[in-house]
Amino acid sequence: MLVFETLASGCPAIADYLSIHNMIDRYGDDAQRERWLPRLCAMDDLASYCLTEPGAGSDAAALTTRAVPDGDHYVLTGVKQFISGAGAAQVYVVMARTGEPGPRGISAFLVDKDDPGISFGPNERKMGWHAQPTRQVVLDGVRIPADRLLGRAGEGFRIAMNGLNGGRLGIAACSLGGARSALDRSLAHLADREAFGARLLDAQALRFRLADMATELTAARALVQQAARALDAQDPRRRTCAPWRSGSPPTPGTRSPTAPCNCTADTATSPSTALRRSSATFVSTRSWKEPTRSCASSWPAA
Ligand SMILES: Cc1cc2nc3c(=O)[nH]c(=O)nc-3n(C[C@H](O)[C@H](O)[C@H](O)COP(=O)(O)OP(=O)(O)OC[C@H]3O[C@@H](n4cnc5c(N)ncnc54)[C@H](O)[C@@H]3O)c2cc1C
Repeated sequence: MLVFETLASGCPAIADYLSIHNMIDRYGDDAQRERWLPRLCAMDDLASYCLTEPGAGSDAAALTTRAVPDGDHYVLTGVKQFISGAGAAQVYVVMARTGEPGPRGISAFLVDKDDPGISFGPNERKMGWHAQPTRQVVLDGVRIPADRLLGRAGEGFRIAMNGLNGGRLGIAACSLGGARSALDRSLAHLADREAFGARLLDAQALRFRLADMATELTAARALVQQAARALDAQDPRRRTCAPWRSGSPPTPGTRSPTAPCNCTADTATSPSTALRRSSATFVSTRSWKEPTRSCASSWPAA
């Protein structure tokens, strides 16, 4: 999380691009790891994750792309939607149905960009993240050897969901990096720019806004750390990875022991409220360089 936040303070889109690569390492057999990982690790190749379909988004277990056994091969047919890196990536982790309806009938496969029958739709027009193309992946009778199965048959949905837990944290960490960069730039600009004979940084109203930005960033970082810790420990609370999609607050009383402050906040209070209180103390000080609370330690110096 720390690495991705730091990378993303330079460019969130590029940083998130790198976060997809660990699934083959985790679930691949020796031959698959040997074939794909050296070039992925060297960034000579990119990988994509193909779960979503035009008719199966949030309800991913409803996917209809099929992988039909044919001798010692599988034949894949279907359309994957909104695939990050599609067309640029060399290898595609494709979730496809090999059995019954629902999550147990799904398997994961490694499809190469050069396999006959794979093609890509037009690049989606997005508001941002232009460094990363988003396209459909069209599988039209793509015939692949059976040893391209990733993990065991029927294990694809579990692989996909585990990937999503890590992926959500990756996106969250990249968002922290982008926010950190925005705060740094705002602070630098306010320290540099003068109006009415004084630095903008000396205007109290703007300092309050900076304090709000820092409060939200620090609270967000605490939530990401809590979710990452739960995921590492395989704690049932690893579902805290999911609020990152909705922005919902963490459960009161579950504040991470790694939260970057030791302010006197009531632990039954949400981290966001507690940090806002501490931050309010901080902005009442006269100097940006001498915060009165340790929870302000993540603030950049003016
Ligand atoms: C830029 C971008 C990159 C992406 N990259 C990838 C990728 O690399 N690989 C990949 O597989 N997918 C990718 N996706 C797809 C993404 O994971 C899906 O968009 C997401 O799963 C939601 O699916 P959907 O868009 O079909 O929305 P829908 O499932 O149709 O949902 C529409 C709305 O309804 C809400 N909703 C749905 N079900 C419920 C419910 N039960 N209760 C309450 N609300 C509900 C949703 O929250 C959402 O707001 C990408 C999407 C984008 C925008």
